[in-house]
Amino acid sequence: MFSVDLTGKVTLVTGAGRGIGQAIAQGLARSGARVAVNDIDATSAAAVAASLGDTARAYPADVADPDAVVQMIAQIHDEMGGPDMVVNNAGIEYKTPILETPVSEWQRTLDVNLSASFYTSQAAGLIMRDAGGGVIVNIASIAGHNIPLPNRASYVASKAGLIGFTKECAREFAAFNIRVNAICPGVIETEMTTASRSNPAQIEKWLADIPQGRLGKPEDVVGLVLYLCSDGALYLTGQAINVDGGKVML
Ligand code: NAP
Repeated sequence: MFSVDLTGKVTLVTGAGRGIGQAIAQGLARSGARVAVNDIDATSAAAVAASLGDTARAYPADVADPDAVVQMIAQIHDEMGGPDMVVNNAGIEYKTPILETPVSEWQRTLDVNLSASFYTSQAAGLIMRDAGGGVIVNIASIAGHNIPLPNRASYVASKAGLIGFTKECAREFAAFNIRVNAICPGVIETEMTTASRSNPAQIEKWLADIPQGRLGKPEDVVGLVLYLCSDGALYLTGQAINVDGGKVML
């Protein structure tokens, strides 16, 4: 398995209780990082942290709550040091036509998928600036590149916004030696896609559009996260990189 040397670095991964976030937390831990495992679900955050060994800790919180994020990052700073790196992975998706979407659903999607990255970037950015540098990785989506995703307007808008925020954040934070990039996964086999993957016609449609001929697994996203966190990526910031088997070529 791919790994880099992140020995001693303290990394916060949000939404790491399962799926892509869990795989990222595992990849960071095997690269020597000390991982702060966030999830809104305290039980899964604790289970993932325990599975990573003594150097990991669980920090359950709703990352859509700005006060909870400030408190969580202060607690990580006090208990673990850093954070030197933040992976904004927590995300949700509703499948509802625009004309039927309640305001609460629209707002919640933007809060979790977009605003949370602003909250963590601000709170951790202050610490990274004072420490002389850091790394932020935002897990966006190819949906943010205007790829058709029927009945998911709030999700598409949140991910397009996250790509835009990544670029502005990279511009401002470059002066502080903080690199900020986004990863745009294609279709990955997690709980988020369970319902769609139960439809064979949908899978066939997806595969027809993926040159590598398969859906992605959570581990497929991990290598790029590790690379972006490593010194191999010192001259790389403000990018939104697709990990999608070649589905989207910009
Ligand atoms: P997942 O299996 O649904 O896992 C998401 C995790 O985030 C869950 O453990 C969830 O907790 C947690 N979470 C949700 N809201 C949260 C909040 N407010 N605060 C803290 N944690 C929260 O999803 P995934 O497929 O691994 O997706 C991870 C990221 O990749 C998301 O940003 C998603 O948009 C992005 N992505 C996924 C795909 C894909 O095909 N799977 C494609 C492109 C991009 P609970 O569910 O327990 O509440």
